[in-house]
Amino acid sequence: MASVGKSPGEKALASLPGGAVRSFEADFFGDVVLPADPEYEEVRRIWNGMIDRYPAIVARCDGTADVVAAVNFAREHDLPLAVRGGGHNVAGTAICDGGIVVDLSAMNGVRVDREKQTVRVEGGATLGDVDRETQLFGLATPLGAVSETGVAGLTLNGGYGHLTRQYGLALDNLRSVDVVTADGRVRTASADRNADLFWGIRGGGGALGVVTSFEFDLHEVGPEVYAFFEWFHGDDTAALMERYLEWTADAPREAGVLAFTAHVPDLEEFPEESWGEPAMAMLGSYRGDLADADDVFRPLRDGATPIADLSGPMDYADLQSMLDEDYPDGLRYYWKSIFLTKVSDEVVDLMRRYTESAPSALSTVDLWHLGGAVAEVPRDATAFWHRDKPYMLTFEANWEEPADDEANVAWGRDGIADASDLPVASGSYGNFPGMNEDPAKRRFGDNYERLVDLKTEYDPENLFGGNGSVAPRTAVD
Ligand code: FAD
Repeated sequence: MASVGKSPGEKALASLPGGAVRSFEADFFGDVVLPADPEYEEVRRIWNGMIDRYPAIVARCDGTADVVAAVNFAREHDLPLAVRGGGHNVAGTAICDGGIVVDLSAMNGVRVDREKQTVRVEGGATLGDVDRETQLFGLATPLGAVSETGVAGLTLNGGYGHLTRQYGLALDNLRSVDVVTADGRVRTASADRNADLFWGIRGGGGALGVVTSFEFDLHEVGPEVYAFFEWFHGDDTAALMERYLEWTADAPREAGVLAFTAHVPDLEEFPEESWGEPAMAMLGSYRGDLADADDVFRPLRDGATPIADLSGPMDYADLQSMLDEDYPDGLRYYWKSIFLTKVSDEVVDLMRRYTESAPSALSTVDLWHLGGAVAEVPRDATAFWHRDKPYMLTFEANWEEPADDEANVAWGRDGIADASDLPVASGSYGNFPGMNEDPAKRRFGDNYERLVDLKTEYDPENLFGGNGSVAPRTAVD
């Protein structure tokens, strides 16, 4: 009776042996936040406003020793465990009900090694934390396109961004990681050390342990690059898409462009008479000689009158944060993905139809151009499987009101379900996973069994479950 009206966090806390939390706190250097604490409401919130979970303990780690303590505590007390990197995975797996959150937000240190041309990044850093430091040296590593997202989630599941076609996925640029495995041990994994673990960490989506530090290769980038961002009328979609596909067939690696269908936002950068109308837009960048940028993008511009052209030279760090405001904390989100071997007419038609029927004008259907350096790495070289697919289709449902949840989630889910009926579409990307409703095998293709073997070896009790990745053979569902 005592637990009636209590949250899952309060109930789990009450069920722990007396003194357990106190002795955990005594050894913990960071902050331990419990349901009764004033910061609890704030620290249990993540980017996706759809997620409303009540953990028993939020362990805001100060360093690797804190992570070890939290992992050991979860295992010893049989508590569910969630790991929070940047807190931006749409499925909300950074937080759990009635368990412990290993919150790495305060572990966001970044250190560039100029001689080795590498960067060390702690497990809770955001993309902005990294670009800010690396750009001081005129260097960068491939990351995603919104600066507030977490390096950890992005990298552990792949990592596509402006630099990907030139330098590979974020995970392709990893030299080594430090990881706390389920037994509480700290291991270093690289090509030479714990190579099997290193294989699984690169694509396994956090299934094998908590990564406390990443070491990435760096490349010379910027500081000034050319941003390509242009909006066109929806009626021109078919013609523009034809040109886009021709362009992607032999685009230089220094350039990358994503095409999406959307509604024109009611922002001052756009003519007022166009606000709310269906549109097709292209967003990308060119990092070669800036004098060549107009020539590089001309084929994409010719023949259609733009609604707005927001292109121009800018600092790479600004390019990496130019979309931040479009994805505020607390809005409601459902994003889902499927890979494409080809963009057939049916795909283009699907994009246009779903944009017209979207319950929210904030939603988009995105076509990512992949390939390049990503496709040059053999598919069994890391746990990340879908390297051979030149495109990815994602449905981004973005809306404001809880009353509209069902309609918006159904829109994204139906869009991917319809796409999956097309012969050109298959698989899914762990960083745009819907609510993790699909089988993990879809992400890992022929790498699945090897990853399950590793999971069984390193995490037989599935302590790091709940993130949509593989389960060990021994786990009982
Ligand atoms: P979190 O929600 O903190 O973590 C997600 C899961 O990752 C956790 O449940 C845990 O299992 C695991 N995890 C997190 N940290 C660790 C760790 N240190 N060790 C072990 N496991 C860990 N993706 C792209 O590829 N390219 C893009 O351009 C891109 N743009 C995006 C823009 C926005 C606005 C958003 C919200 C997402 C975007 N994404 C993009 C997807 C993004 O990569 C994923 O949401 C990613 O999972 C976010 O990482 P995170 O650390 O913030 O995740």
